[in-house]
Amino acid sequence: MKIAIIGTGYVGLVTGVSLSEIGHQVTCIDIDDGKVERLKKGISPIHEPGLSELMSKNIEEQRLSFTTNHQDGIREADVVYIAVGTPENEDGSADLYYVEEAAKEIAKYISKDMIVVTKSTIPVGTNDKILQILQKHRIYDVKVEVVSNPEFLREGSAIHDSFYGDRIVIGAESEEAATVIEEINRPFGVPIFKTDIKSAEMIKYASNAFLATKISFINEISNICELLDANIENVAKGMGLDKRIGEQFLKAGIGYGGSCFPKDTKALIQIAGNVKYDFELLKGVVNVNQKQQRILIDKLNSYFFSLKGKRIAVLGLAFKPDTDDMREAASIKVTEELIKQGAEVIAYDPVAVKNAKGVLDPRVQFASSIEEALGGSDAAMILTEWKEIKTMDPQLFHCMDQPLVFDGRNCFDPESMKNNQVEYHSIGRPAVA
Ligand code: NAD
Repeated sequence: MKIAIIGTGYVGLVTGVSLSEIGHQVTCIDIDDGKVERLKKGISPIHEPGLSELMSKNIEEQRLSFTTNHQDGIREADVVYIAVGTPENEDGSADLYYVEEAAKEIAKYISKDMIVVTKSTIPVGTNDKILQILQKHRIYDVKVEVVSNPEFLREGSAIHDSFYGDRIVIGAESEEAATVIEEINRPFGVPIFKTDIKSAEMIKYASNAFLATKISFINEISNICELLDANIENVAKGMGLDKRIGEQFLKAGIGYGGSCFPKDTKALIQIAGNVKYDFELLKGVVNVNQKQQRILIDKLNSYFFSLKGKRIAVLGLAFKPDTDDMREAASIKVTEELIKQGAEVIAYDPVAVKNAKGVLDPRVQFASSIEEALGGSDAAMILTEWKEIKTMDPQLFHCMDQPLVFDGRNCFDPESMKNNQVEYHSIGRPAVA
């Protein structure tokens, strides 16, 4: 199949590379000249394990190419994927500007029957609107169909998820269109669930909202555990043994971030609101998460009289490990608050520093190693559970004048910190000194 993909961000690029790896001829289109130039040279603009290798291989084998020219990419394609961003509007709803622009570009250049697949996360009913745009703006009288194929990859394991995901959802009105997209995806060997378009659109939002709910739920339980001297790790383990609950997404911490959960939960509240439904539970989930992101700062504030002049080492900046994505990362709010309270912030992250420099307060300093960040600091805060951080020797905390750690991701066993004479405050577990 000849496939064009509009948007080469986390989703578009991973989709393009994966589809080329299973044998399709893929052209990825992006409006960002610089990005496309780098991609043509085989340089990935994002940190994603396994992506660069697979990308170079498929460029070399001439199944994968990149362009800024929509016409070049779309003209020859049998199927065009839309994988542009759907960021958050000020009121929390999804901003569909890029999707609309992409649909107009497709309409301009379709010259044969075509299926347009939406990978972007878009509110229920948006595929219908895309179809209207395609029909209104197309120049040739060709048959166009729209298929919803929401993306479920997780940043940090996106390539793995393409080949070993739990399901591929295909929402289509016609059986023929659904079958074409099913055939395209069959070589992945991932279970395929076919449904109608609106249900497919909702599956994406409902899945993210449910996962966010699990996180906010366990975070609330962890806060109660702290007040009652219970241990959240033991509680989560005991809960997770029940197969109806499951052990995943029961990790207490300083809340969810990233480019999906924060915006998709708010968008679903809006989607429900548009049909006069008050999604009270999800509003609670969002509020709990906002509160949770402050929890380490609150702990620091109750420890020190004042943060003025204190040097705080921040370990981990990306919103989660194995990615350089800083969108809605907890580190943004935490470092902002530290600076506001007069602290000196020295941050370390193994891969996200370049992106972090673009979004964090310019007063944040950056260290090139954990030791450098800890040296001379009054306290360390752990915000991302990078393997390098989780597996570090706790003795390294003695680089600080007094080893004092506030861990927002429960990276260490409190007992081992105690044995290493490190004062350790974590989430939902008794502090050790
Ligand atoms: P992104 O911001 O990383 O990438 C979007 C890309 O689209 C950018 O490179 C941009 O230049 C390009 N673009 C915008 N308009 C264009 C146009 N008219 N023509 C060509 N290129 C254009 O976004 P992302 O993180 O890849 O997310 C894309 C969509 O997938 C969103 O709806 C998101 O919610 C959804 N999603 C994301 C993830 C994730 O983990 N990032 C997971 C599942 C679903």
